[in-house]
Amino acid sequence: NRQYYLAQRPASVPTSEDVPARDVPVAEPAEGMAVIKNMFISLDPAIRGWMGDDPNYIEPIAINDAVRSSVIGRVVKSNSPELAVGDAVMSLGAWEAYTTGPAVAMNKLDESAGLPLSNFLSVLGPTGLTAFFGILDVGKPKAGETVLVSAAAGAVGSVVGQIAKIKGCRVVGMAGSDDKCAWLKDDLGFDEVINYKTCGDYGDAIRKACPDGVDVYFDNVGGEILDAALLCLNKFARVAVCGWISTYNDADAPGPKNLWQLVAESVTIQGFVVIDYMDRFPEAIGQLAEWVMSGQIQFKEDIVDGLDNILPAFLKLFDGSNQGKLMVRIPEE
Ligand code: NDP
Repeated sequence: NRQYYLAQRPASVPTSEDVPARDVPVAEPAEGMAVIKNMFISLDPAIRGWMGDDPNYIEPIAINDAVRSSVIGRVVKSNSPELAVGDAVMSLGAWEAYTTGPAVAMNKLDESAGLPLSNFLSVLGPTGLTAFFGILDVGKPKAGETVLVSAAAGAVGSVVGQIAKIKGCRVVGMAGSDDKCAWLKDDLGFDEVINYKTCGDYGDAIRKACPDGVDVYFDNVGGEILDAALLCLNKFARVAVCGWISTYNDADAPGPKNLWQLVAESVTIQGFVVIDYMDRFPEAIGQLAEWVMSGQIQFKEDIVDGLDNILPAFLKLFDGSNQGKLMVRIPEE
């Protein structure tokens, strides 16, 4: 079983010394367990957080353990009445070819609609659900309000913006290339876009794109963009803190300087993790599927082939070269 494991905690951008490969036997399934052959391994910015040892919503990855990830796989061996060989499941697995785990923690996927299984990691999976609950429950957008989204062309951000459009908001997206900005505006119907790599002063660019100010800032990046957005908020604005990707590889990144704006404008700021909403996943998946089928939500998946490409693929999240939900595919034999 080829695995990529955490040999040491990365000091900055993870390297092949931090995350080397090894081959180990596939663990046999004890009673109640099953073995899946992984087909898709989800690559999420959160994994970078689990490689460190700061307090988090889930335990850090232990040194010498395979790097934890959501996976989609097919059951190849089962020691549980819950799962049969051939079932497709989603589970918390690892950067490895085969995952052995408890059957109760493997969610059987419904293949009857003929959807590509990768969709269960993207728009109908954790990133789509993050967008759904983050914008609706935390951002609480009202028709006519202005919603600003950072990392707007990413897996979470692109869905956030489209949901805000469905709710009648004016939506402004920030992304790191002209191609990404063009996709947001021309295909997804964002009202305005900012290429934050070429726009100059972030505050000026946000004020120009949001002449009526910002009512909801959906924060995927933290750092200087958050600081600039804080200065553009309207009275009673909401800041939904989803992630701070600009800081994940930089332990010395300074914290936000403009938090006083929370007082000045009576702002609500709230962080959240998608697993807070687990009870409501079925409802949200139903709604997301409806929007996808009606064409109101479009999405991109960036699928990199081959387990041995997993570390360079993961780093695409941090240089912005991923186009949509990033994952690695291991071909079925
Ligand atoms: P994306 O598909 O958005 O990929 C990451 C993108 O972040 C890159 O493509 C890049 O886009 C942008 N980015 C990278 N570095 C920087 C930087 N220094 N400054 C600004 N932008 C940067 O990933 P996801 O949609 O999976 O995740 C987006 C955010 O959501 C992350 O912060 C993640 O941690 C968070 N998240 C939170 C969850 C929760 O439950 N709270 C669950 C899932 C994700 P560009 O080209 O535009 O720079």
